[in-house]
Amino acid sequence: MPSPKALLNAAKIRASKELGQNFLSDPSSAELIVRKSSLSPEDVVLEIGAGLGALTIPLSRSVKKVYAVEKDRRLATVLNGELIKNDIYNVEIFHQDILKTDMTALSALDKGKIIVIGNLPYNISSQILIHLVKSREAIERTIIMLQKELAHRIAAPSGGRNYGRLSVIIQYCSQVKTIADIKASQFFPRPKVDSRILEIHFMKTLPFPVANEKTLFQVVAAAFGKRRKTLKNALSKSCLPANPDTIATVLEIAGIDGTRRAETLSVEEFVRLTDAFLTQMPSLTSD
Ligand code: SAM
Repeated sequence: MPSPKALLNAAKIRASKELGQNFLSDPSSAELIVRKSSLSPEDVVLEIGAGLGALTIPLSRSVKKVYAVEKDRRLATVLNGELIKNDIYNVEIFHQDILKTDMTALSALDKGKIIVIGNLPYNISSQILIHLVKSREAIERTIIMLQKELAHRIAAPSGGRNYGRLSVIIQYCSQVKTIADIKASQFFPRPKVDSRILEIHFMKTLPFPVANEKTLFQVVAAAFGKRRKTLKNALSKSCLPANPDTIATVLEIAGIDGTRRAETLSVEEFVRLTDAFLTQMPSLTSD
């Protein structure tokens, strides 16, 4: 496959920073992702941000079908041309926003779970991760490349400054494994930071299931909204519709000291806190 620089020049396209366009220029990284994904010819893959096809093309040779989602119409057109040139007919390009892509509907097309793979656009990686968590019933597993710093945050243990909203949400429902690190020099244009490939395996049985996940996500967001404040202050000043007395009761029921900070709470404690909120404020579950 031609280099991304050559493809962009030929199509007179300038890579867009807003769309996080840093294309894999070293085929060995794409091959590594495909190899480590343990794919079989029966698998159906959803690729996030297919770009110029650095991953799409090797993926298409290992699986039954690739749904390639790409927001940039210019790139979708180039990709379509590359697929035709390479006689590849098992890739369906969706010119759309991954955040608006209904993964459950896509998985239903082939009556099975999909494997989600992608070199994520860095500026919306966190939103994509939340979208994956919410769609996880449709997903077998996920192999994604993201900024190393975000990968650290996802896997961070409680108690440190890297531990935050995303760490709790991902660790609540999945197991995360580091596959490899990829140097910034392997992309065009070259990004400022290195990347990491992660495998995220969504657990079928959760160690600490919460009564209502939507409320858990709200409580976690509220607690980390003012992460330098104590938990009781952060929760009182958040958009949760709870007054200080209710918050004190909730913290007592959960057995959590309100003078602690959000970053010291384990996933299990966040689940306890959420369940305690639900006993006092059942209306939190409604939209
Ligand atoms: N997969 C290609 C590669 O590895 O060379 C491109 C990866 S590049 C880091 C991210 C890609 O995601 C870009 O092609 C970009 O246009 C696309 N993208 C950005 N925002 C998107 C969105 N909301 N939905 C779908 N694709 C998006």
